[in-house]
Amino acid sequence: MNDFGRNTQKIIDLEALKSNYCAVASLAPKSNTIAVIKADAYGHGAIAVSKTLASIVPAFAVAFIDEALLLRTNNISTPVLLLEGPLAERDINLARQYNFWLMIHSTYQLDWLIAKDYPKDQPVWLKVDTGMSRLGFCKQQLSDVIIKLRNLGYKNLVLCSHCACADDINSTKTSIQSLQIKELANQYDLPLSLANSAGIISWPETYGEWNRLGIALYGVKCTNGHTDDSHINKHTDNLSLSQLQCKLKPVMTLQSSIIALRTIKAGEHVGYGNQWQAARDSIIATIAIGYADGYPRNVKTGTPVLINNTRAPLVGRVSMDMISVDVTDLSEVAIGDVVQLWGKELPVEIIAECANSINYELLTRVSARVKSVYC
Ligand SMILES: *Cc1c(COP(=O)(O)O)cnc(C)c1O
Repeated sequence: MNDFGRNTQKIIDLEALKSNYCAVASLAPKSNTIAVIKADAYGHGAIAVSKTLASIVPAFAVAFIDEALLLRTNNISTPVLLLEGPLAERDINLARQYNFWLMIHSTYQLDWLIAKDYPKDQPVWLKVDTGMSRLGFCKQQLSDVIIKLRNLGYKNLVLCSHCACADDINSTKTSIQSLQIKELANQYDLPLSLANSAGIISWPETYGEWNRLGIALYGVKCTNGHTDDSHINKHTDNLSLSQLQCKLKPVMTLQSSIIALRTIKAGEHVGYGNQWQAARDSIIATIAIGYADGYPRNVKTGTPVLINNTRAPLVGRVSMDMISVDVTDLSEVAIGDVVQLWGKELPVEIIAECANSINYELLTRVSARVKSVYC
């Protein structure tokens, strides 16, 4: 056993992060690729991630200003785009002071900008709603907003929107959204930004002056799981989806270790509610990770964990601090053995599917009590 107590940690591979950024950004060499590091860099640690990427990215994007201020207090001076824009009037002054780029999606934000005499040479991103109905001006509003800002002397405007269905390679929505935003960009003669990870990887028509790369940066899948990549022939450089997804390396590996082993008889039960019953005499390993660490409570029995390079099934309910795994079929197993919950050898998508969730949610929900180890 190790000497450092509870061995539950997320190991963050910063070289993989860098290599993923370069691999995906190279698909769209004419675009500027912004690294999206909201939600503590999708659970990977915003400070370490931004320090690793600061010298190679044109800008970072976060959801709101607190996430941006964290970068400045850690001496990262790269521009930061606030994807939800200012959420209080004082955010305008802070944005000016710290060189944050504001994405404006509602008229109340526009009013603040004007009231606070926001610098005319600062970029202002204008979000337009092209069919997600979440954030953004409608087309009629947009025209008024642009006229107003231009009359006041704002020159550095960027038009942007968000893909609703880019992860679904069979959806027609993404092409419709691309056409809409391109039409508007032409009409107003503005640079545009639409693509997220799935856009960059699967939909070249979404490329703009600025692309916004999130989930793929962290080396996990961003499409709906089809490995059929025939549609990707659209890619000018012929790099296929499966080739790219091979190049992407998972950045986070979540691991723990075995803290107890026992043999139970056929017919005995495991865990809360005694939900699982052994059909044969079984060896049960208890692993030091539970839902309080961010391991999803609703995974089903049979969800794999990796022990000594072999998959073993989780059995019974996930507890707050522990899970139980049936290791009867493993040739060798001992207290202290490392257990991978997801990561390099066990794609997080598999666990997300067992939890009826998506990789985004699992990655962002690993809790603060899990130690981060950077390599
Ligand atoms: C989170 C986010 C992104 C990144 O999306 P991914 O699917 O993680 O690449 C891009 N744009 C906006 C507005 C976002 O909120």
